[in-house]
Formats: sequence, structure tokens, C-alpha cells
Amino acid sequence: MMIHDHAVALRETLVRHRRQLHRHPELAWCEHRTAAYIESVLGNLGIEHRRVVGTGVVAVIEGRGERCVGIRADMDALPVPEAPGREGYRSEHEGVSHACGHDAHVATVLGLAELLVGQAELPGSVVLYFQPAEEGGGGAEPMVAAGVLEDPAPDAILALHTASNHPAGTVGLRSGPVTGAVDDITITIHGIDGHAAHPDRAIDPIPVAANFIINAQQILTRELDPLKPAVITFGSIHGGTRHNVIASSVTLEATMRSLYPDTREYLIERIQQMAHAVASANRTSVTVSIEHGYPAGYNDTALTRLVDRAARSICGDGCVTIEEHPSMGAEDFFEFGSSGIPVCMFRLGVGNPSRGITAAHHSSHFDIDESSLPVGVAVFAEAIRRLLTIEPLSAIGPD
Ligand SMILES: [Zn+2]
Ligand SMILES: [Zn+2]
Repeated sequence: MMIHDHAVALRETLVRHRRQLHRHPELAWCEHRTAAYIESVLGNLGIEHRRVVGTGVVAVIEGRGERCVGIRADMDALPVPEAPGREGYRSEHEGVSHACGHDAHVATVLGLAELLVGQAELPGSVVLYFQPAEEGGGGAEPMVAAGVLEDPAPDAILALHTASNHPAGTVGLRSGPVTGAVDDITITIHGIDGHAAHPDRAIDPIPVAANFIINAQQILTRELDPLKPAVITFGSIHGGTRHNVIASSVTLEATMRSLYPDTREYLIERIQQMAHAVASANRTSVTVSIEHGYPAGYNDTALTRLVDRAARSICGDGCVTIEEHPSMGAEDFFEFGSSGIPVCMFRLGVGNPSRGITAAHHSSHFDIDESSLPVGVAVFAEAIRRLLTIEPLSAIGPD
């Protein structure tokens, strides 16, 4: 059977996996039931697997050749209550749902596992990484540290992410930068509280916070290369108790996103300098803490070209979109490539406006058109076939 037909034949199985996972969403590092489900499916398929870092699962499908391809699926859900709908497979966990489509990611890789073990002779090995805690928990880094990239050592690693802004059954991808680096910053400006009618006897931190917010925007517009994008968003500001009392302190929380390491370093340094300078110029003191999140993600050029060709051979030219711009959203899949292994993440279109499936990721209304699942499986399988047989990465030159 051809890869595409084989994937289409798995449609009911894929939907069953996805709905089973969808009914039992679990937050980062709590994916116990999800891991057990993955293990039971792998066990039934006779695939060797092991637990890592608590709720992660690594499975190896051995073939006869030397080459090895890694495939990663993230497993966790979000603390987002599910909007009405999805009869028969609604989330059974109050306040938690698969609002980023990671249920579909796991389902697709379980379907891929079934397709691969069904092949008469696999020309190389495939290692499957079921990764916990993508949604801010940083599950990829400890998995890599636990040695999952050794024995077998993959020559390339692929992942997909569902995309509700792409039509179901299509593929979107780009080479180079794809996702942004994240650094979260918390700043507290300390003044001296007092009576609102007597500001001269207090030091009011609220106008200082306002100045700081404006100055931070100025770093973006006046100090950075305009061709290297960055974002600073102040998501929360808290200070004071009522209209006639001068606050003693103001706390601001912001997130910084950037695509290039030099921009990231500059932002981290300058935002701290700016906080101290604005605070001291206004007689206040300041405490600053920065929590470093995921680095920016880069798709390997040759590997992306291979995935592009694989996707076109599965879906046709018209169903593959080369994305013009990266996203400033973050993704920790790229940790798997931090030691230099080529990695590529493509987007699997899951939207369908005619069925009302358009909601953004992380929305309580987020859903997928399940007809897209076999396409994800087929693109993975075709890319693996090429990587294990006809297209060593080193042989893929520019078009
Ligand atoms: Zn997400
Ligand atoms: Zn996600």
C-alpha cells in the first residue's frame, strides 16, 4: 500500500486516539494517563519503549539500515476551560483542555508508529519522542539531558504543530527562524507611601512605572535593528490600594520576544539598565528578576527542503504554503536541535471555516478538523522514507 493510502486507512484509529486523549487532558508534568495511553498503544504494536523524566516516553522502531530519524510529539494540555461542543469527546477534566492541539500531535505519532511497524522492511530506525510539558514547562531540555538523543542517535528530528489558521489537510513551513525566544521579566519599583494630597512627603512609584513602560517601548523603536523583530508586552501592572493613597510600590510583569540571539541579549541587558536608570532618576529603587524561557527556533534549511518535497508529494503543490514570516510565539521542540542535529517543525493545517473551526490556539473554542490527521501521518512517513533511503541531508543542495 502507498504511504498516503495507508495513512488514510488509519483515519478511524487516529480519531479514536485523538478523542481519547482529548477527553483526558493533563497539564505539564502531570501527563500520567497520557503516558500510560501511549505505552499501551506502543505495547499493542510490539514497539520497544521506555519512560524518561517522569511522564516522557521514548520508543524505538528498529530497521535494517544505519540511518535514524527522530519524531517528537508534545503531550500536555492547558489550564483553559473548554467551550461547549465536542459532543462525545469533551474534556472530562474541569478547567483543563487540549486547546493547543497536542492531543492531535500524539495521535498523529501513534498513527505513524502503526504505519511504520506495518511496513515490510523499514530501511533504517525511527525514534519517537513523546515529550511532556511544552506549554511553559520546558520538557524538552531535561529529555535531551537524559540522553534521549543517544543510542540511537537521530540524523534529523521532525515535529508538526497543528495550525487552525491553515486549512485542514494543508502544510505550512519555512526554513530559518520559525519561533521566538521568550524572556519574562518582573520589575518592582519601590517608593514611599503617603497621603495623595501631599505628594511632596512621599515618593510616588506610579508615574515612575508609567515612564518606564514608555522608555521600554523606545528601546524597541529607537535602539534595535528594525529588520530584527522584537516585542515587549507588559501583561500586568499592580500598585496601590485606593484613589487617595500614594502607593508604596508598583510591580510590572512583561514578556520579551525576539528572533535573533544578539537582539535577545541586547533586550535583556537594556531593559534592566532602563529600569535602574528610570528608578534612580525618580528617587525610587527597583528590583528586577528575569526568567529565561525557550530560545528562538530555527528550521534547518536542507531538512525543511526535504519536508517540503515530501509534503508536496503527499498533498500536491497547492496544499503546501511557504510561510513568509516566523511566529513570535515560542516552542521548545528546538531544544532537540541544540547540539546541532538538524530539526524541522512544520504546521499541519487543521482549520475549516465551513465547519466553524477557526478559533485560535489557546482559546477555549479551539478545535481541529480531524480529516487532517492522516495528512500529518503521511507527511511524516514520506519524509522518513526519503531520509532513510533516497535523500541523505548532505545531498540536498539548493534548488
Ligand atoms: Zn500552545
Ligand atoms: Zn502547542
